[in-house]
Amino acid sequence: MSFSSLQRKAYIQNLKTENFDLLVIGGGITGAGIALDAAVRGLKVALVEKNDFASGTSSRSTKLIHGGLRYLKQLEVKLVREVGKERATVYNNAPHVVIPEKMLLPIVKKGSLGKYSSSLGLYVYDRLADVEKKERRKMMSRSETIKKEPLLRRDILLGGGLYIEYRSDDARLVIENMKAAVERGATCLNYAQLKECTRTDGKVSGAIIQDGLTGESFEVKAKTIINAAGPWVDDVRKKEGSLQGKHLLLTKGVHIVVSKSRLPLNASVYFDVSTDNRMIFAIPRGKVVYIGTTDTVYPKDQDVNFPFADMEDATYILKAANFMFPEANLTIEDIESTWAGLRPLIYEEGKDPSEVSRKDEIFITDSKLISIAGGKLTGYRKMAERAVDEAFEQLKHIDGRKHVKCTTKKVTLSGGDLKGHSGVVQFVKYLQAQYPDFAPESIEELVYKYGTSADEILDAAKKVDTEDNLLLAEMDYCIEEESVVSVSDFLIRRTGRLFFDRPSLADKYKMIHEYISEKCGHTKEISDQQLAMFEKEYFGVVAFKSLIK
Ligand SMILES: Cc1cc2nc3c(=O)[nH]c(=O)nc-3n(C[C@H](O)[C@H](O)[C@H](O)COP(=O)(O)OP(=O)(O)OC[C@H]3O[C@@H](n4cnc5c(N)ncnc54)[C@H](O)[C@@H]3O)c2cc1C
Repeated sequence: MSFSSLQRKAYIQNLKTENFDLLVIGGGITGAGIALDAAVRGLKVALVEKNDFASGTSSRSTKLIHGGLRYLKQLEVKLVREVGKERATVYNNAPHVVIPEKMLLPIVKKGSLGKYSSSLGLYVYDRLADVEKKERRKMMSRSETIKKEPLLRRDILLGGGLYIEYRSDDARLVIENMKAAVERGATCLNYAQLKECTRTDGKVSGAIIQDGLTGESFEVKAKTIINAAGPWVDDVRKKEGSLQGKHLLLTKGVHIVVSKSRLPLNASVYFDVSTDNRMIFAIPRGKVVYIGTTDTVYPKDQDVNFPFADMEDATYILKAANFMFPEANLTIEDIESTWAGLRPLIYEEGKDPSEVSRKDEIFITDSKLISIAGGKLTGYRKMAERAVDEAFEQLKHIDGRKHVKCTTKKVTLSGGDLKGHSGVVQFVKYLQAQYPDFAPESIEELVYKYGTSADEILDAAKKVDTEDNLLLAEMDYCIEEESVVSVSDFLIRRTGRLFFDRPSLADKYKMIHEYISEKCGHTKEISDQQLAMFEKEYFGVVAFKSLIK
């Protein structure tokens, strides 16, 4: 079965009739990784997502596949080692959405890391992650650092360290995992919310799911269930009637986006915030630079579905950026877009949010619901391995199933059949030569989103003689191959345009909405709801700007 939203009915029919080995709740990176791992190990797997795939935290991170240098300061050596090593695996499996990039760590007077501790920290960081010799950190003098990044504040600069990290696109990574799972027989449905779990002899045996487009509820039968609902993990546990033991702490992390013309950085920079003990990133991407993040406890009475940046978040980040890059003199007016994500952390009494461990944990209720929470984007494959191992353990007692080992380390994600970064660069050149009528930069953008599947989009676009042919072909592809159902799915999760190219959307988003809505055959009620949802985000991401007089 293809991953087309035009086949939704067949998908739902499949969900109603099969008896699955595993049902996964939540279509973020954790759920997507679990679905792929389980499908590769031969399990009959279904995944339901209440909104769109990656609409939770997994489209709102800093988008780095990294070991987490700062966790070294907290002496989380095991965590740094595991996620550090995972970087290389995720890169090998999806080089089109995981791009190696040098990160600059400026060393400043009274900074959180001195010259020697930076040098030692980066040395350990590289070793823990098994970084190849030629990629290992390089310490730089003050003048070398200025040459590398002339915008850095000079009066406090002592030098810098240059080390390897990987920039990714979190939502694309989710979709490429999901597509790879579907290719192996998984049934993954967005806009399908778990309402309650059903039980047989006190053990979970399925769930009541509600279709968000028709309102219809139906039962999905499953021998095991994994709750991978991120910030909603406790809600699902509550629905199951068993919120026992540890629970989640949600903290908000905000990023702001400014034009690269206002902050023309040469490299990604990881720098000290002058007002507290934290560090944040400034990361160039295409025409923009994004800066973040914050880390504040998210109040329980606020909407978990739509976290937004507020004036306080924006001011904090601007202040930090202007301290390190004073010549840029960024103001609220420069902010083109923002995003805010919620970290599903496992609560630790008395700890500051920045100090709470990012380790993942598995909780199992008496009714055998497996919940997995915490963790990082980078470590999703290992998290999936642990969760699916647990499902196998349960299946052993249910139907005598033999354990099958995890092999996702060697599984190429959808679109990722390219040999490393140089393979991606070569493929871009190949397509640019094949399709001379399209702008070279548009082709490059497509490859960094869809990998080898970019060819299919370009081929379809070539056959249409209109000004918008590339956009139309991309929308068709996303509807037919990536389950796009609404304008938000397309402009936020599949293409990231709301975050990285918001100014271009003002005169386009309504046309995009109408095209998708018509092609998917939505009723007027659903279509209007979807437009309202998009506008909530389109205006919401910069709503705080209206507070300046
Ligand atoms: C600001 C910020 C920056 C970060 N930066 C990084 C980084 O650079 N690198 C890194 O490695 N990690 C980073 N992280 C961590 C990383 O983003 C998260 O660990 C990861 O995205 C969590 O994914 P998840 O799948 O567990 O949760 P989510 O992505 O939130 O997915 C859970 C899904 O479950 C769905 N769901 C909820 N309830 C139901 C229900 N009843 N029925 C069906 N579906 C349901 C939700 O709609 C949601 O889509 C960052 C996090 C934040 C907040």
